[in-house]
Amino acid sequence: MAKITFLGAAGTVTGSKYLIETGGKRLLVDCGLFQGSKDLQQRNWNPLTVDPATIDWVLLTHAHIDHTGYLPRLVAGGYRGPVYADAATRELCNLLLPDSAHLQEEDAQFAARKGYSNYKPPLPLYTIAQAQQALTRFQEIPRADTFTVSPEFSVRTHDAGHILGSTWLELTITENGKKILIVFSGDIGRYDQPILNDPEAPSRADFLLCESTYGDREHGTGSVPDALTDVINRVAKRGGTIVIPSFAVGRTQTLMYYLRELDDAKRIPKLPVYVDSPMAISVTDIYARHHEDHDLDFTTLEQQGSRDPLNVLEVHMTRAVEDSKKINDVTSPCIIISASGMATGGRVLHHLAKRLPDSRSAVLLVGYSAEGTLARALQDGAQYVRIHGQEVPVRAEVVELDQLSAHAGRSELLRWLSGFTASPRQTFLVHGEPSGLEGLRAGIASRFHWPVTVPAYLQSFDLNT
Ligand SMILES: [Zn+2]
Repeated sequence: MAKITFLGAAGTVTGSKYLIETGGKRLLVDCGLFQGSKDLQQRNWNPLTVDPATIDWVLLTHAHIDHTGYLPRLVAGGYRGPVYADAATRELCNLLLPDSAHLQEEDAQFAARKGYSNYKPPLPLYTIAQAQQALTRFQEIPRADTFTVSPEFSVRTHDAGHILGSTWLELTITENGKKILIVFSGDIGRYDQPILNDPEAPSRADFLLCESTYGDREHGTGSVPDALTDVINRVAKRGGTIVIPSFAVGRTQTLMYYLRELDDAKRIPKLPVYVDSPMAISVTDIYARHHEDHDLDFTTLEQQGSRDPLNVLEVHMTRAVEDSKKINDVTSPCIIISASGMATGGRVLHHLAKRLPDSRSAVLLVGYSAEGTLARALQDGAQYVRIHGQEVPVRAEVVELDQLSAHAGRSELLRWLSGFTASPRQTFLVHGEPSGLEGLRAGIASRFHWPVTVPAYLQSFDLNT
């Protein structure tokens, strides 16, 4: 009897993990980290309700940490099977998982020095060595083709248009000669955006898991280049700094793409851009090697004299902690792009602690800010925030630029869902906060009249009914 269990991203946006069981075999779709509130983060430390050693396969939709960041814990906990991912996702994970471990080691060391952690001594959730160990489990699967995992499972991947390598999955379960088709949306991206292809349309599913991040909201419709031009000129004129919390892969490339265009068009002053991330390898190389889901034409751009379409003129990639600290000494206007994206940890915290009290500066929020994160507190207009155990006054301007979001807005999610030619037997809404889940449920009810369930954390459902 086939069964699904929601081990994460149920009633919340992070920790994506869905366990599918049939004929005594276990397959996990995505293996994400919980991020945000202390309660959510605590789940990363609790033992998984299923013994990792008893899981046979892991399948990934894309490389973001809330879909992959638990893998080092899973492997450390005894998982010995393959981690199936497409080539771009694998390459991005080669950067992201050690980076995630690195951020956690840095945070633990910092907490130990400052003595503010509840744990004595503060430990990282996993180490760089454990992240490297997890990477040895990766095996590439083809894009846009059917891959047979086992007699019970086969999968076909489709473009999701969210980040490089991102896919939505059609998983076919074969049980006693009967087939069940489950579609996992992964994270659905945007339509008509620069760089990435549009999400591919689905057609049918017996069961559907659909993300609901922006299920209740549309993105701003204003022009991104105009908004960036405004804020950069405004802040530069008053001598401030722009801090942009952003994961180093995905949004950072889109930002760099726009900044280079604005720089070429001489619409913004020539400010130094610090990409403060331990990842020294240029992600541009990964884009250049993987043309599967973007429309950047590197050859033509090269012929036009733009050697690197994702880099602005004065860009500094900082890997070493000492170089990162030196950015604190920069007093002239500059742009600092630093992880983590929701300001839940990492080096961006140091930059925020330094720049938030300065009314000349600005913080640019360019992605989704989950409940309980520092980015959400800033978005909600907090006067003071707590960083590394200190009260920090917020005098800097906080600017939301959610047009840069990598997530489909409400109408884009409904547009993607309109690809289905018939109602799935059951639609499970996941990867959303209560307002997003309710918003999408209402949208599906009024537009498609499909049966919809919002599963609870750890809830299981029989897939034969
Ligand atoms: Zn994502």
